[in-house]
Amino acid sequence: MADVIDGKKVAEEVLASVKEEADKLIAETGVTPGIAVVIVGEDPASQVYVNSKSRKAKECGFHSVKHTLAEDTSETDLLALIGTLNEDPAIHGILVQLPLPGHIDSGRVIQTISPDKDVDGFHFINVGKLGTGETSTAFVPCTPAGSMLLVERVRGRDLSGLSAVVVGRSNIVGKPMANLLLAANCTVTIAHSRTKDLPGLCRTADILVAAVGRPEMVKGDWVKPGATVIDVGINRIDAPERGEGKSRLVGDVEFAEAEKVAGAITPVPGGVGPMTIAMLMANTLVSACRRAGKEPPR
Ligand code: NDP
Repeated sequence: MADVIDGKKVAEEVLASVKEEADKLIAETGVTPGIAVVIVGEDPASQVYVNSKSRKAKECGFHSVKHTLAEDTSETDLLALIGTLNEDPAIHGILVQLPLPGHIDSGRVIQTISPDKDVDGFHFINVGKLGTGETSTAFVPCTPAGSMLLVERVRGRDLSGLSAVVVGRSNIVGKPMANLLLAANCTVTIAHSRTKDLPGLCRTADILVAAVGRPEMVKGDWVKPGATVIDVGINRIDAPERGEGKSRLVGDVEFAEAEKVAGAITPVPGGVGPMTIAMLMANTLVSACRRAGKEPPR
């Protein structure tokens, strides 16, 4: 049976170290890491995410501000707020919760955030830095950065000679994950909805990352024996066995079968999920260190 990678525990370790380093930064330089979270509209799931980000920031000893804007806020007003936050010396990280209402151009909003405060790592400058291997000065998107930390826990930092397959090519997960694996010397293949013989391809992977958004699509017999399986997917499915109208979360990997074959595997929930917020705090700390002229912790 595979080792089940405890993302919750690793995330707690990351957060504890972020808090320790933030305390040090404050004591040595007087700079308190600051994060601004911006949400437009009342989407309940987004509210939950935003509140937990604000709570974690406070637990890390950060200065944290939340801007809740009405659903009908104009793009001009949102861009003006981002402009103000870009100039605010107390803010080192700006996070705009996605999705935004349809009348707002998300791309324009993201590209308006200063690359130095783009702790989500979505600005073209940060995407380009990651793509060209400038990982030491880029902000790396939080979910792939957290997934990579989990891979490192199992395989170490140098993945030379290993083959990796990333299923999914989104800009926020699949592509940055592939770049991180490449930077760690893996031989990387990115698969997507047009890939032929996906099961066969997955069976070649020493490291298999699933970021698809389809419940339990990756079957146990697609997994190479001993592989490290990182399941990024978060899918809510009906769970009538838990009672009428109940649901539960599953990943993109058929966990019960994959666990019998893999060397190590992340569960859902409790795998990659908790890492995302932890890496957001880590990125904000890095930003504050850069601003204070201090070497950021690794
Ligand atoms: P997207 O919908 O943006 O991308 C999905 C990718 O999967 C696409 O590249 C798509 O291919 C590919 N795909 C879809 N169907 C198939 C198929 N049948 N075979 C092979 N590839 C397929 O999703 P995200 O990257 O944003 O998210 C992926 C999953 O990760 C979701 O479940 C999401 O909830 C979860 N997630 C979890 C986070 C966390 O904190 N743990 C954070 C972010 C996301 P194509 O490009 O060809 O359409």
